[in-house]
Amino acid sequence: MNILLTGGMGYIGSHVAIVLLEAGHHVVLYDNLCNSDAGVLARIAKITGKEPIFMEADVRATSTLTETLKNHAIEAVIHFAGLKAVGESTQKPLAYYANNVEGTISLLESMSEVGIRTLVFSGSATVYGEPQYLPLDEAHPTSATNPYGRTKLYIEEMLRDISLSDPSWRIVSLRYFNPAGAHESGLIGEKPTGAPNNLMPYMAQVATGELKELSVFGNDYPTPDGTGVRDYIHVMDLAEGHAAALSWLAGHFGWHAINLGTGEGYSVLDMIAAFAKASGRDIPYRIAPRRKGDVAACYADPGKALRELGWQARRRLHVMCEDVWRFQRRLPRP
Ligand code: NAD
Ligand code: UDP
Repeated sequence: MNILLTGGMGYIGSHVAIVLLEAGHHVVLYDNLCNSDAGVLARIAKITGKEPIFMEADVRATSTLTETLKNHAIEAVIHFAGLKAVGESTQKPLAYYANNVEGTISLLESMSEVGIRTLVFSGSATVYGEPQYLPLDEAHPTSATNPYGRTKLYIEEMLRDISLSDPSWRIVSLRYFNPAGAHESGLIGEKPTGAPNNLMPYMAQVATGELKELSVFGNDYPTPDGTGVRDYIHVMDLAEGHAAALSWLAGHFGWHAINLGTGEGYSVLDMIAAFAKASGRDIPYRIAPRRKGDVAACYADPGKALRELGWQARRRLHVMCEDVWRFQRRLPRP
């Protein structure tokens, strides 16, 4: 199949590209490099023995996108391109609406014009808002607490509307829980620009000594050890979930939401212990106040993905930590 990945040079897209190339698909990465670098291409080629086609452009450049879809006879799109930092979205909400919502409108226009009707979207468990029950299944009510989350919610509504307006669409919103980990080669992984916001990349930089200590945001939550609980999913499991979703869409019309998570929750202290073990390094930490907007616990009911896609996460927490550590050690030090 000829598949276009918007935002395909980024953290999750690059891992999905590997899985698709290894499965024999033709892959076009369409990315403006606002949060990635062109070096990813050579690393994907080293891992898979195949170089994907790369188009440097913005998803909002609708005519360029339309030409790219035509020129490469694209049959399906996976839409990763977007901005994703929750904190930044509260400072620059319009940049988030412009990039994420306008970007998706542009993509849907291009796909409509060319007649491509198969789309996998990078959704997020953030659309569940404050959990009313756990584990979170796809029927849980949706809401948003920040502009980033609202873009994800609005995009899902748009996707639902477009699938109702034309029943030939086949769309899946994959609602990711907490993607973490790296490819086992250590060649690609998550490389945040500036100080990391997320737990895993922050811990990795504490382990190397680049950052002094980790702040644990709150130890008075109603969880077993008082720290926040999340469902961390290995990025390669997540990547395989995208391949499974694409195959499944061949037999399904309409818009569908499917969780990609493991169903297991780990606390911040569990994560620190696991990373210290995998790296053989100390992870100094101190307890800090709760971070605004954080929920106590969030983990998936992954049953629908298993029932519908035949997919479930296979890689355990220690593998995730070992893979992040391998990637972190290979990064050039400043
Ligand atoms: P990332 O920033 O590493 O990748 C996104 C890629 O999109 C980058 O390469 C960036 O250069 C590109 N991009 C951004 N805006 C673009 C535009 N207008 N035109 C073309 N390219 C553009 O992020 P990621 O972690 O790989 O996330 C991918 C998707 O998954 C995002 O939509 C994100 O919201 C979603 N998601 C991520 C997480 C997570 O924790 N990483 C969780 C839930 C959902
Ligand atoms: N966290 C933390 N210190 C950090 C970063 C995160 O204690 O420096 C906690 C955060 O409060 C949450 C968990 O780690 O309980 C996962 O946070 P992350 O930002 O990685 O993902 P989120 O679930 O918030 O999207």
